[in-house]
Amino acid sequence: MAYIEPAPIKDRANPFESMMSRFNIAAEALGLDEQIYNVLKSPSKQVSVSLPITMDDGSIRVFEGHRVIHSNILGPSKGGVRYAMDVHLDEVKALAAWMTWKCAVVDIPYGGAKGGIKCNPREMSAGEVERLTRAYTQAMLDVFGPDRDIPAPDMGTGPREMAWMMDEYSRAHGTTVNAMVTGKPLVLGGSLGRTEATGRGVMVSALAAMEKSQINPYQATIAVQGFGNVGSFAALLLEERGSTVVSISDISGAYYNENGINIQEAIAYRNNNGGVLENFDGAEKMDNAEDLLFLEVDVLVPAAVEDVINLKNVDKIKAKLIVEGANGPTSAEADDVINDKGILVVPDILANAGGVTVSYFEWVQNRLGYKWTGERVNRRSDRIMKDAFDKVYETSQKHNCPLRIAAYIVAIDKVAETYKYRGGF
Ligand code: GLU
Repeated sequence: MAYIEPAPIKDRANPFESMMSRFNIAAEALGLDEQIYNVLKSPSKQVSVSLPITMDDGSIRVFEGHRVIHSNILGPSKGGVRYAMDVHLDEVKALAAWMTWKCAVVDIPYGGAKGGIKCNPREMSAGEVERLTRAYTQAMLDVFGPDRDIPAPDMGTGPREMAWMMDEYSRAHGTTVNAMVTGKPLVLGGSLGRTEATGRGVMVSALAAMEKSQINPYQATIAVQGFGNVGSFAALLLEERGSTVVSISDISGAYYNENGINIQEAIAYRNNNGGVLENFDGAEKMDNAEDLLFLEVDVLVPAAVEDVINLKNVDKIKAKLIVEGANGPTSAEADDVINDKGILVVPDILANAGGVTVSYFEWVQNRLGYKWTGERVNRRSDRIMKDAFDKVYETSQKHNCPLRIAAYIVAIDKVAETYKYRGGF
């Protein structure tokens, strides 16, 4: 799994505050009722657990795990579980709230949640990760459930971990409950198209934004930061649509080829090379990986970690369009500079919502006991992404605001409206 080392926490904006500052602007533009504002500004549930695990050498290590449910007013809460060393509660809280807005923007019937375990899965054996995943699932038996809270992959997790979660949960319930988690392997009830879904949604929103900016996709140059599940598929699918991907990066560094990088080859290289692009010879390695962000390209896709575009480097951004594949790649303080520079940003809660959209399809298929074709999955998710983009774009015109604030307005409006009918305080 491609992985860009995040900046140490102390150097990064507090992600929850970043989320809140955008939320505040949108809430004001909407004239959000103060009572509802107070309900939405804090998560509805936070569960933190200590997970003692026997390591392969016989020692016992205690891991810290969290699951935060920001809201379940729109339906069962939904969101991934992240395995990374920099997982901390504030970050999980922000990511959980982002999931509420994300699901609301694409109009799927879910609330928002997120989970995380502070660990470095790349330094653990498969057995250690399995024991940790099962212990986490055990600890969350009362939280998870197909009608309650549905986990999914995020950074550092994938179908393998989702299979263990489903198995552990199913054992505890004495029956196979495949709708309790999404992003599963196909044979366990995973959906066709789920693996590529987030990258595909990035591609759909990038094309929609290019159209608005009068950028011809056949002449467009693209730089993609992060070559994991999101970045690599976004690059591949944009290349398939005729664009030229001139730069890609991962933990091993950034690579540049002005004639375009062959993304199929890069993916094959990464897959045969322990999951990293180290020594990839289809492009030249750049001296400084961060310089990928400053290339003069039409479209920049940050698809790695949070806060990579921040007050310190935002001046140097030259892309015409930014399509946020990662969650929170732009810190809130950098927003104004980007807007002043006239760069169009398709925000994370819209651009990367293709993943949770196909998670929703997976859950629907599990509950129906039926399997859709890949063609049906793609057609429906493309339509949802395009409709969401159009709605956010219209809202930005109406409120004369950036797409990011417009996306928050669309999301908060839906949640507030739901509260109005449900009431119950
Ligand atoms: N972790 C992904 C996200 O941040 C997917 C969540 C899901 O499918 O529930 O959107």
